[in-house]
Amino acid sequence: MKKPLLLLPLVAALGSPFTLLAQVNPAYEVATWRQFKPAAISYTLDDNTSNQLPVAIPLFDKYGFKTTLFTVTNWAPNWAGLRAASANGHEVTSHTVSHPSLGTIPVAQQVTELQQSQALIKANVPTAKCETVAYPNCSLGDVPTIQTYYLAGRVCSGAIMPSSPPDFYNLSAIITGSTGTITTAAAMNAKIELAKSSKGWCVFLTHSIDNDGGYSPTQSTELAAHLAYTNTNIADYWVATFSDVVKYIKERNALAVAEATVSADALDLTVTDNLPDAVYNVPVTVRRQLPATWPNAAITLGTTPVPATITTVGTVKYLVFDVVPDQGPLRLTKAAALAATQGAAAVATSTWPNPFVDQTTLAVAGRFHFAVYSIEGKLVASGEGTDTVQVGGQLAAGAYLVKVSQGGKASSSTIIKK
Ligand SMILES: [Zn+2]
Repeated sequence: MKKPLLLLPLVAALGSPFTLLAQVNPAYEVATWRQFKPAAISYTLDDNTSNQLPVAIPLFDKYGFKTTLFTVTNWAPNWAGLRAASANGHEVTSHTVSHPSLGTIPVAQQVTELQQSQALIKANVPTAKCETVAYPNCSLGDVPTIQTYYLAGRVCSGAIMPSSPPDFYNLSAIITGSTGTITTAAAMNAKIELAKSSKGWCVFLTHSIDNDGGYSPTQSTELAAHLAYTNTNIADYWVATFSDVVKYIKERNALAVAEATVSADALDLTVTDNLPDAVYNVPVTVRRQLPATWPNAAITLGTTPVPATITTVGTVKYLVFDVVPDQGPLRLTKAAALAATQGAAAVATSTWPNPFVDQTTLAVAGRFHFAVYSIEGKLVASGEGTDTVQVGGQLAAGAYLVKVSQGGKASSSTIIKK
């Protein structure tokens, strides 16, 4: 017999009138940002200046960071380049048709700017959803009109945003480059550190790269140095597109988590929200305290294994996993311990992509050892790495446990090869 556990209301900042309905079982915590990182960062690039695709995007791709390209559709976009960037996970979205200050033109003209830019981007970049907009010259237009077409809009008031912004149509950004004070890697680093200390969201707004003739040039050498710093400190920062962060915030604040006990060794879990699933489909990170008698745990969605990590915070062990709301029932089951990780403190590890098709990147700051095991516990790969290694190239499709160790600390996580 299933025994439902007590539900308590989620206390969260009010992003929607439905937030009060969301309930999270008290054994669970929903991460403010993906993987319980302290802060989120979005890198946005405006005006399709000519060095963005050939010079800037490779600097981000080096670390798997996904940007948002706010595109002005009648400023000769490089559609082939934007298609390639979108296929690679960058967000290609609207900066209007002709770059007018929306607040200064009639609503009918705003409709044209908002609607036609969206239609053109979707027609030219089939993988682009075009769900967000950056207001030209940071001039906010008619919000009910903007809401008809977009989930969120960006201004540039220079602030780090709180984890639950009060207005998704007035999201702040910090301009980089020669027009202001954020001209060096050190200045960009200081901004993300501020986001870390406030557990907030830092959105950078970059236009020109080097000498490409656009507004407020940012030097690619400074950008490269800043991105290296972000990557070195990746345990602290979730880097994601503007729309993914918007969706994460709304899902997180609407999330309901309910659990039922199946047996001493199994728990059933549902993770739901009240948002439209076709749009709000980014994974939210959740963690559950391991039941006292469980040394380890596995999680499945239906019969599919879900990547998960065991972490220890203080003396409490958690199973940490990402879940897209409303995808159906999940089951947590007791699993045997990986002997070498027992009692060891966790090593901060990130893996992307996961699930993966060919191989995946395992990232740990500094020198580390890794070992890959089949679910049955057989060692299938091992080696040493510094900062990042590629794993999984020789593996058959399926789920594997990866153990990372470094200086007496260890952590384990699940990777899925498709
Ligand atoms: Zn612009």
